[in-house]
Amino acid sequence: MEKSYRAELVGAFGCPIDENPTGVIEEAAFAAKGLNYRYLMIKVNDGDLEAAINGMKAFNMRGINCTIPHKVKVVQYLDELSEAAALVGAVNMIVNTDGHLWGDNTDGKGYMKSVRDAGVDVAGKNVTILGAGGAARAISVECALAGVKHITICNIVREQGEELVELLNTRTNAKADFVFWDKAIDIDPSTDILSNCTSVGLYPNCDQKPNINYDTVLPSMVVTDVIFNDPNSLFLQEARKRGAMTINGLGMLVNQAALNFKLWTGVDAPVELMVSTLRKEFGLDEE
Ligand code: NDP
Repeated sequence: MEKSYRAELVGAFGCPIDENPTGVIEEAAFAAKGLNYRYLMIKVNDGDLEAAINGMKAFNMRGINCTIPHKVKVVQYLDELSEAAALVGAVNMIVNTDGHLWGDNTDGKGYMKSVRDAGVDVAGKNVTILGAGGAARAISVECALAGVKHITICNIVREQGEELVELLNTRTNAKADFVFWDKAIDIDPSTDILSNCTSVGLYPNCDQKPNINYDTVLPSMVVTDVIFNDPNSLFLQEARKRGAMTINGLGMLVNQAALNFKLWTGVDAPVELMVSTLRKEFGLDEE
C-alpha cells in the first residue's frame, strides 16, 4: 500500500466516557501491529447521537463503539445488524464500510470467549443470570445461541426481566424462566454457571455485592462477573469461599475489544498485549 498520512479513525461514543479504558488497550494494539489507527474517547450527550453518527460518516471513520446511553438508540441509524445485535436489540460496535453502517454486539461474544478460555463448555448447561440490563441481554442471547439448555433471569424490575425471558423463549432454542429478585434469593442447585450481570460492585462501590444467599453457591458452579473494576469483586470472593471456580470481567472486556479490533482492521488482535496493558492500567500487577 502507498504511504498514507491519514490515520483511520475509530473510537467510542458515550456519556459518561472519561473512565472507560478501552482506548488505551486499542491504541496499544494498533501500535503493536504497526497500524495507523487512532481510537478516540468521544463524549456524546444523550440527544446528540444522530449528529454524532452523521459526523462519523462525514469523517469517514472506520467504526465506533457505543456505550451508555447509546447502545439501543443507535440501532435506528444502522443499515444492517448481526444476528446477535438484532436479537439483543442493542449494538456496542459499528463498522463503517463506505457509508454502509453494520452493527454488532460483541459484549456477549467477549463473555463467551472468556468462559471458553477458562475451559468451560456452555452447551447443554443451566445458566442463572443476575440482572436484565444491556450486559444481561447480550450474555443471555449469546448463551442461547451457543446451545445453553436453560436460562434463569433474576431481576428487581419485573417487566425488564420478563421481557428478556419472553425474547429468549420465543426467538432462541433455550428455555428461560424469570425469578423476581425482591429479597436475598437462593441459587437453584441445578445451576452450572452463575453470572452477575448487574452493576453491583462496580468501582467505587467495591464493598457491595449482589443480594443472594451465598451459601446456596455450590463448588460445582462456575461463577462469573461482568465487573472488571475491581476484578476481584466481593461477589467472586464469596463464590471462591464456597469452592466455586470464578471468572472475572477483565476477559470479557479485553475479548470484546479484540473482536472489535479484528472487525475494523481485518488483523488478528494481539490479545496478550491487550490483557497486560489493561492490567498495567489498573495497577493489577503491582500488588
Ligand atoms: P444496565 O444499566 O443496562 O443494567 C444494570 C442491571 O443491574 C439491571 O438489570 C439492574 O436491575 C441491575 N441492578 C442495578 N443495581 C442493582 C442492585 N442493587 N441489585 C440488583 N440488581 C441491580 O447496565 P449494563 O447491563 O450495561 O452494565 C452492567 C454492568 O456490566 C456494568 O457494571 C458494566 O460496567 C458491566 N459491563 C462489563 C463489560 C465487560 O466487558 N466486562 C461490558 C459491558 C458491561 P433493574 O433493571 O431491576 O434496575
